[in-house]
Amino acid sequence: MPQTPLRDGALDSARFGVFGGRYVPEGLMAALAEVETAHQRAWAEPAFHRELDQLLRERVGRPTLLHSAPRLARALGVPGVRVFLKREDMAHTGAHKINNALGQGLLAARLGKSRLVAETGAGQHGVAVATVSAMLGLTCVIYMGIRDMARQQSNVVQMRLLGAEVRAVRTGDGGVKAAITEAVRDWVAHTENTHFLFGTVAGPAPYPRMVRDHQSRIGTEARRQVLAATGQLPDHVIACVGGGSNAIGMFHPFTGDPQVRLIGVEAGGRGLHTGEHAATLSVGTPGEMDGSYSYVLQDHEGQIAQTHSIAAGLDYPGVGPELSHLKDIGRIEHAVATDAAALRGLDTLCRTEGIITALESAHAVGHLLELAEQDALAANTLILLCLSGRGDKDLAIAAELLDAGRSNR
Ligand SMILES: *Cc1c(COP(=O)(O)O)cnc(C)c1O
Repeated sequence: MPQTPLRDGALDSARFGVFGGRYVPEGLMAALAEVETAHQRAWAEPAFHRELDQLLRERVGRPTLLHSAPRLARALGVPGVRVFLKREDMAHTGAHKINNALGQGLLAARLGKSRLVAETGAGQHGVAVATVSAMLGLTCVIYMGIRDMARQQSNVVQMRLLGAEVRAVRTGDGGVKAAITEAVRDWVAHTENTHFLFGTVAGPAPYPRMVRDHQSRIGTEARRQVLAATGQLPDHVIACVGGGSNAIGMFHPFTGDPQVRLIGVEAGGRGLHTGEHAATLSVGTPGEMDGSYSYVLQDHEGQIAQTHSIAAGLDYPGVGPELSHLKDIGRIEHAVATDAAALRGLDTLCRTEGIITALESAHAVGHLLELAEQDALAANTLILLCLSGRGDKDLAIAAELLDAGRSNR
């Protein structure tokens, strides 16, 4: 396998190797091109970065903490292992989504758009977009599947408090995929005054690259913080993967450090053998979905599979094209953590470090516990793990599980 994945397929800004592209109806091409040009121009401008950096510092709380986790490390039972947690859960609104929401919100304001539309799954992206809309004085409409609305009610209340209109999507499986379809439909009808603020590194170009640019701040900060704390680079960098934005944001600044292992953890749901999971990189096949070519969970006729995860934010049958490319060239590894493994990760992190993490991020912790149990962690390994969000939104689910499972403790 080639050892130099570091420069993206520079010839075509829409592609990562064979993945990516812009598989959309003709009516959307001009709007996507407008966003791409605006992003490239803004990204090259010191004034844009000054404004964005200041807002991220003063309104979001960046840089987020790097948390040394000695009690979690001890719980792994491997001599000399050190663990550092990148605390995206400490960002305003409680997850990494705000990095991208604020960046694109600023861009929309520059383009003279007065209205933001977005999809949301777990609701974290919707809350981030609603927050940014309030900060910047923009109108906000969030599309959310009814199944997700039922399991993430606190986020629905937050979006409404923040002044957003939340539109329930009853089509499809009531998840984020259907919400994306409806948000895009809205955008097509209102491109003159509306920006579609997509929340992850999937979708048609320019979203995968633009969202990655904004989320790379996670890895840029973490790389600097780990070096400052230890004088060395981490051996393993671990992040959960839904669409892939916290993972690529964490991984990207390390892709040029071949000694650093980059491990994306997907939702194993009830187990890969049950078919009820969302492990796209692990068992998907290349195909076209939601405007780009990437790994997809589909049957042999191209029908998109039903997915399941206890974490709404991971419950998506696709994954960003850049991660697909990095998988194919062997630069990233992928793993799965089941619902049960994630719950164990949540429980362990609560009790060792006093952090109630999001069910999504708990998959990364669960995988770390399994690596240790399977003797797959060498002594003295230095681990950097992304805690993509906080667990407040999941308390109803966690409470049910406590009642069901912990009565004998
Ligand atoms: C949305 C979300 C995810 C999954 O999205 P990615 O684009 O894969 O990062 C993970 N964790 C949290 C807390 C989320 O809100």
